[in-house]
Order: sequence, then structure tokens, then C-alpha cells
Amino acid sequence: MILRDAHTVSLWQDYAGGYNVINRADPQQTYDVIIAGGGITGITTAFLLQNAGKNCLLIEAANLGYGTTGGTTAHLNTLVDVPYNTIQQHFGKEGARQVKEATAEAIQLIQHHIDRFDIRCGFEYADAYLFAQTEKEEAALKDTAEAMLLAGLDVSGAATIPVPFSFRKAVKVTGQAKFSPLPYIQRMAAAFEHIGGTILQQCRVTAVQDNDPMLIVTTLGAFRCRQFVYATHIPPGVNLLHLRCVPYRSYVLAATLADNNYPEDLSYDMQQPFHYYRTQVMDGQPYLIAGGEDHKTGHQENTEACFRKLEAHLREAFNIEDIRYRWSAQYYEPADGLPYIGRLPGQTGEIYVATGFGGNGMVYGTAAALLLKRLMLGLHSEYVKLFDPSRIKPIAGFNTFVPHNADVIKQLASRLLPAEKLEQLAGLAPGEGKLVSYEGSKIALYKDEQGALHAVDPICTHLGCEVHWNQAEKSWDCPCHGARYGIDGQVLNAPTSRNLDPHDIG
Ligand SMILES: Cc1cc2nc3c(=O)[nH]c(=O)nc-3n(C[C@H](O)[C@H](O)[C@H](O)COP(=O)(O)OP(=O)(O)OC[C@H]3O[C@@H](n4cnc5c(N)ncnc54)[C@H](O)[C@@H]3O)c2cc1C
Repeated sequence: MILRDAHTVSLWQDYAGGYNVINRADPQQTYDVIIAGGGITGITTAFLLQNAGKNCLLIEAANLGYGTTGGTTAHLNTLVDVPYNTIQQHFGKEGARQVKEATAEAIQLIQHHIDRFDIRCGFEYADAYLFAQTEKEEAALKDTAEAMLLAGLDVSGAATIPVPFSFRKAVKVTGQAKFSPLPYIQRMAAAFEHIGGTILQQCRVTAVQDNDPMLIVTTLGAFRCRQFVYATHIPPGVNLLHLRCVPYRSYVLAATLADNNYPEDLSYDMQQPFHYYRTQVMDGQPYLIAGGEDHKTGHQENTEACFRKLEAHLREAFNIEDIRYRWSAQYYEPADGLPYIGRLPGQTGEIYVATGFGGNGMVYGTAAALLLKRLMLGLHSEYVKLFDPSRIKPIAGFNTFVPHNADVIKQLASRLLPAEKLEQLAGLAPGEGKLVSYEGSKIALYKDEQGALHAVDPICTHLGCEVHWNQAEKSWDCPCHGARYGIDGQVLNAPTSRNLDPHDIG
């Protein structure tokens, strides 16, 4: 099983063997391209560039699939989550058509790779059903269906839907697909290495010095390159993109059904937040995979309750035999509905980024790889303007991100905290975490199953917001830009690259 940036185990993770590499990264040579991030975006970008003749080094902080690619649900959609009428409002009819084209190309590319490398990842084309359950949703469905038709999707009315929920109106969209993501990315990584690419795992990029060549500083030393890509889901550091991408968590259950009535196609309701459903067969065992209960990261007090709500919702309609997996993961919602793919704003060197995929990063991550390849090879792409990260205007109020009083915490960090006192203050059960005030300062405190306390500074090392406890994933999550940390403060998610300061407990 591979590791993921979470405490819960995803279906994909459980079925995946590890991907081993021998460290061949060479600090003496100047790579054409270094890519940070071993999810679908980084691996596909690395493969496409290497295949086009560039000499690439892919650097992953943990293991391939450690990020959201290991916790996705892997629907492959041209029917993206942001309604096409909204895309049309923001980007015009031509923009909506381009979104359909770019996502369709991405699905085709995935299928092409699967055929070319004979990847056993359960890829299948499927129809998608979007269904309305209230009058209001019905009106919204009509608007979005019209916009989808205009954008070129194959949409028709549907009298039935694959899932056992009552509905008023539904539409069917053809040309969608599904697959199992980890065999896909692992096989693509092997293909990348086979054509001369280099992969470095357990290595975090901590700084990029924008010289020529660029110096990429990592936890395993520095490497040089001419072009650099942040395929880290959100770029680290401080950038305007952090103000334009809002981190969300979504919850997923994978269940077996007593009546074997697994829905063959993909389905989506229109509730706020919406639910998504599909089936994947893994080693002969079908699973119903259903997700929803999304919320902004760090904004939900009781994350366990999200799983319970999702389970209750499923049990109302499906004949659930067993909930085999439950997991949550993080995505980044872009301000205007479309991802940011291209040159990182505010940098002079050739630093590229792909972020803000919302819940469609399997396709947008692949579309990003295609677009980045063209941009970095100096070729034309009709999508440059549509996804340009610089479409973001500088925002007034940027410097209202005032760091909390980090000084006080720094002083506290050097002192031994009394375990007994903290224990009394927090009243924690084993496996629980809480923010505790001690002598005027806050401490992020966790009690492990053996009763040992773990204390860290709760000030996020990205921009100084205060982290919140996530009970389901046993992590400290930043509500501002989605940085996440483990119980001892180790970084789980960008945009930060620096751990929370630990406190000694005596
Ligand atoms: C519950 C859920 C369900 C979803 N379902 C779907 C779906 O059905 N269809 C769909 O299209 N999309 C879906 N998405 C979205 C999609 O899964 C993601 O957008 C996509 O996986 C992002 O891929 P990525 O490669 O860009 O990022 P990630 O997979 O997150 O990979 C980024 C990698 O970068 C590494 N990294 C971070 N910082 C550094 C650093 N400083 N140095 C080196 N490495 C670093 C991380 O360890 C990580 O492995 C879903 C998202 C969620 C949360």
C-alpha cells in the first residue's frame, strides 16, 4: 500500500503496490525541466516533455500518488463541476467550447496512454447523468443543459438514472469515462523512466532560485534546470494564486452492495454540496464509490460527522452490504471556475504552474500537461489565454494576511510544557486533538492512542493563520490556504514547505 497525505485509507491506495526508484538524480547536470509533484499532473507533464525530447527530473515530496491523486474518485468528465452556463458567463461561448474541447482531449490522451502502454486500470467509457430533485434544481438543470449543448457536449433528456434516488428531471451526457488512478500514474511513471526521465521520491522542493540556470533547492540537495513546473496541486510559497484558490475537503465511501445492483454509469445530484456516484471493479470486486459533504478546509468542526451524513444518505437508497473504505481528500476551487495553467505570475524565469482544478483534476491535470508541454516547447495552443494564471488581477487587501503573533509562540517553543497541566486544560480522549490556551498562547495538542501528548505551534508556516484540528484525518488543517500538517507538525499538503514547530512536553 502506498502512503497518502491522510489518516484514512482510500480504495486506490489499498490496492496499490509501492513504486520504487533508484535515486539517479544528478546535482552536477542542468536538467531541461524539473517538475515538482508526483500526482497525475506532474507525471503526465514529465512524460509528455521527456517524450518530446526534454531531459526531465520529477521530484516528489513523499511517494507517487501521495496527494489528491491517491484520494480522488477518478471520474473522467467533460461534464465539469462548474456549470457550463457559469463558464459561459465568465468566459463566453467560445471559452465554454474550449473547456469541452480541452477536457475531451484529456480523456482521449488518457485512453491513448492506456492503449499504448497496456495499462490495466479498469478504464471504461461511461455516460454521465445529472439529475434535479427540486423545482429550483430543475430550472438550473435546464440552463446548464442548454449551455452544454452550445459548448458541444452530447446531451439528451433521460427518463431513468442509474442510481436509486427520486428525481424530477435528468440529462445524460455521453463521452465520459472512469478508471483506477494509481495503476495509471505508476505505469506512466515507468514509461517516463523508460524513455530516460528521472524520478526522485521522498524529496521536497523547498525553494526555487530564479537564476539561469534555476537552482531548485530540495531536502536532498540542490538541482539545476532551465524550466521548472509546480505540479504540487497548489504552488508553495506566497502567490496571488493562493488568494484565488480556496481549499475544500470532500468525503468518499466505497461500499459493497447486498443486491449487486451497482450503477454502471456516472451520476451526480444537484444538491449543495452535490453527491457523486459510480462503480469500479477492483480485482473482480465491484465497489459503489460515492462522495460529497464538501466543505472549506478547516471550516468543519466535526469532520467525522461528514462521513456519517454521507453514509446515512447512501443507506437511504442503496442496499449497502458493507462500507469497506472511507476517506477524504483536498481540492482547490478556483475563483472564476477554471484552472490556472501556465507561467506563475510574478516570476521572471520559466516557472510554470497548474492549479485550481476543483473536482476535475484528473482531466484538468491531464489537460494541464498537454498545455504546459506546448507552452514550454514554444508551440501554439488555443487554450493559453483561457487558462492563463495571469488573468488574475492583483487584489487589494493582499497584505491583510497579517501573521498571528508568531513571536509569542516562538518564545513558548523553547520552553518545556507541563504535560499534567495541558492534560487538564484539554481533557482529550485518546486519538483526539484540540487547540489549547496556555499562559496566553495557543498550542495545538493531540493525544495519541497510547495516551502520549504531541504539541505543536498552531501558526501555519505559510501565511500565519491558525490551524484547526481534523478528527477524521488526524491532521492540523489551515483554513486559509489549505496547508495541512500531521500530529507532530510534519507537512502533509502544500502550499507550505515548512513543518509546524514542535513543543517539548515534560
Ligand atoms: C474526494 C475527491 C474526489 C475527486 N474526484 C475527482 C474525479 O472524480 N475526477 C476528477 O477529474 N477529479 C477529481 N478530484 C480532483 C483530482 O483528484 C485532483 O485535482 C487531482 O488529483 C490533482 O492532481 P495533481 O497531480 O495536480 O495533485 P496531487 O495529486 O495532489 O499531487 C501533488 C503532489 O505534489 C507533491 N508535493 C507537494 N509539495 C511538494 C514539494 N514542495 N516538493 C515536491 N513535491 C511536492 C505532493 O506530495 C503530491 O504527491 C477529486 C478530488 C477530491 C478531493
